[in-house]
Amino acid sequence: MSQQWIPNDDFLRHTLNHPAGLSPCEFRLENGVTVQVWDTGVICFEPAAAGDKDIVLSCGVHGNETAPIEICAELVQDMLQQKLLPKQRTLVLIGNPAAINAGKREVEENLNRLFSGHHSKGAGLINDERKRALTLEQYVTRFYQQAPQGSRKRYLYDLHTAIRGSRFEKFAVYPFLHGKPWQKNQLEFLRACGVSTVLLMQTAASTFSYYASNTHGADAFTVELGKVRPFGQNDMSRFSEVRASLRALVADAPLATKDFAEADFQLYEVYRSIHKQTQDFKLHFADDVENFTTYPVGTLLATDGDTEYRVEKEGEALIFPNAKVAVGQRAMLMVVPRSVKGQLA
Ligand SMILES: [Zn+2]
Repeated sequence: MSQQWIPNDDFLRHTLNHPAGLSPCEFRLENGVTVQVWDTGVICFEPAAAGDKDIVLSCGVHGNETAPIEICAELVQDMLQQKLLPKQRTLVLIGNPAAINAGKREVEENLNRLFSGHHSKGAGLINDERKRALTLEQYVTRFYQQAPQGSRKRYLYDLHTAIRGSRFEKFAVYPFLHGKPWQKNQLEFLRACGVSTVLLMQTAASTFSYYASNTHGADAFTVELGKVRPFGQNDMSRFSEVRASLRALVADAPLATKDFAEADFQLYEVYRSIHKQTQDFKLHFADDVENFTTYPVGTLLATDGDTEYRVEKEGEALIFPNAKVAVGQRAMLMVVPRSVKGQLA
């Protein structure tokens, strides 16, 4: 059931009232910004004289991760009400409205495992998350391709909150760049957002951020902003840096960045990925252990039938442990500190 968007309406509320789809519409604000709603949860702001950045901000790819949804909804409302003047082309995406309504991470399938064509693999477009992954890819493609000619910079920040607590409250996943250098200015931007822990991936992934990075050459990140909480229970003061930095980015205002110094960061790479091989897979630490927790070398982490997993390296830290995944899926990622000296652009 589609329905026309009313410009004075609340964008998030309107999105959640029409989780299955919205008719496209376009209108112009008095400040000259053209606003286009392309679909439910898909809104594009185009300044009359846009700067050289094409910025995609996404939230709600996991429906129960409310803080990023509140951050993006606030940004959209402030642009609609002309309290914030975007000077860069900006596309805001609310990833999975049906899952947000259900108060769940996903309705049927993890949306953030379906990008770069994974939506159409295997059984194909069999559920709404698979269809949404495909259309989100199409909207991102359209947004980047419709940009004015010339030398431009593409960005995508996919905002999340994690299921569990973290030793470092906020952290970002830097998708695999296939040998290209990591961007110093992006690490500086993340730090201005209050994110100084970064996991540097070395393999392709089915995430939204890897898709934007690999397919569109965007500087793209999955940004974990803290722990999952229900709507209204987020302490928004904990997100003041990311809110201010995103607003400055969109408005082309000065950013509170500091020159990169490796000592200001916790940089990690994946050491190994532990996959669940049997139904007997069991984690040997407390359920509520925080991401980036470390244990002494030799500590038993997990058992899987006859297989034992123990800490192998000094500083090896665990993230995203989940014994409940399906057999064959990743149950835990083990990461180790690394340096990027001489490898930044
Ligand atoms: Zn998430």
